[in-house]
Amino acid sequence: MRTQVAIIGGGPAGLLLSHLLHRRGIDSVVLESRDRAYVEHRQRAGMLEQGTTDVLRESGAGERLDREGLVHHGLELRFGGTGHRIPLTDLTGRTVTVYAQTEIVKDLVALRLADGGDVRFEAEVLGIDASAPSVTYRHNGRTHTLDCDFIAGCDGFHGVGRSAVPGLRTFSREYPFAWLGILADVPPSTDELIYANHGRGFALHSLRSPKVSRLYLQVSPKEDLASWPDSRIWDELAARFATDDSWELRQGPITDRSITPMRSFVAEPMRHDRLFLAGDAAHIVPPTGAKGLNLAVSDVIILARALTERYASGSQTLLDAYSATCLRRAWRAEHFSYWMTTLLHVDPSADEFGHRLQRSQLDYVASSKAAATSLAENYVGLPLD
Ligand SMILES: Cc1cc2nc3c(=O)[nH]c(=O)nc-3n(C[C@H](O)[C@H](O)[C@H](O)COP(=O)(O)OP(=O)(O)OC[C@H]3O[C@@H](n4cnc5c(N)ncnc54)[C@H](O)[C@@H]3O)c2cc1C
Repeated sequence: MRTQVAIIGGGPAGLLLSHLLHRRGIDSVVLESRDRAYVEHRQRAGMLEQGTTDVLRESGAGERLDREGLVHHGLELRFGGTGHRIPLTDLTGRTVTVYAQTEIVKDLVALRLADGGDVRFEAEVLGIDASAPSVTYRHNGRTHTLDCDFIAGCDGFHGVGRSAVPGLRTFSREYPFAWLGILADVPPSTDELIYANHGRGFALHSLRSPKVSRLYLQVSPKEDLASWPDSRIWDELAARFATDDSWELRQGPITDRSITPMRSFVAEPMRHDRLFLAGDAAHIVPPTGAKGLNLAVSDVIILARALTERYASGSQTLLDAYSATCLRRAWRAEHFSYWMTTLLHVDPSADEFGHRLQRSQLDYVASSKAAATSLAENYVGLPLD
């Protein structure tokens, strides 16, 4: 069996790449190790940069996003019992949109299948030959080989793509905290996201729809989910979001909960021979800056452009520049995500000097237009080129 581009992974990066290539007349096969229901219901990201919504819309994948996505023009930093609004749109002219990763994946799977696309679920890639090139995968109990012109490793942090890049250099940072995230059937208590810094730890109030709230608590990476009954989660959230005025946190049934460790990670280069890594396969950011999914999307926009140029004119120029182009953007997102994380979380090893420095930085971002603009332009996403 043969295709032009073999795509490993049916997460947002792999599915969007397949969709963008199809629009440019390039064939691909997506190989995804999990089943369709699993990838469509895995709770993860929810905040989209304008560049991400633009590409979904322009490529014909934005119909439901336009109907159901919630456009935001600002966010709140809450500390010392007071909220401080960062007016993202006033400062940058751009917006962000709340639309869950689960919904993007559902939209893209449906579109690929409607367009006659080849998306194989429960097809686990076992081996990669980046020179031949080809991939070996297991599907329905049998081993198959897929020959191709190029391979896209969109298989996430735990995938096999990275291990096929010889001489790979990796850079990483572990954080002394994790996020306990919940999904609750209750209308959000806020119109815009609240990023709260509190002596008890960081908390984030996000949302998925006008009826569903998404909330996070900073916890220890060793925390056991079993020791967090609903009442403890709500009490802790209420304590960390408490203000000096009458703001109240609405509570409702919790429908999903998980603990996610936080890490920063970059692998260089993002290419070996005819294999190209994209998304979480090449880089991970702590979720505080809402950058992971957006970074995966920008990688595949850059890769789709490069492959289009290669098939249209035979030129390798954009393919040769792929790794450096993506890494420049990835490192900017790494820095911003690290900065947002250290700005807002309580470092258990910090002393009073560290706490004072953190408070000073929060005051500065809340009071200086220049500092707020720096946060805002990174948060809404820097231009692709
Ligand atoms: C709690 C949480 C909150 C987040 N919040 C945000 C946010 O607000 N904004 C944001 O931008 N990002 C956020 N992120 C990050 C975002 O979810 C990821 O960056 C995004 O999923 C990356 O997409 P991807 O397609 O590169 O990888 P993935 O979504 O991991 O997809 C990779 C796919 O490859 C498949 N696969 C793996 N190995 C193989 C194999 N051998 N063969 C075949 N298939 C394989 C996997 O099953 C998976 O489906 C968050 C993440 C978490 C965990």
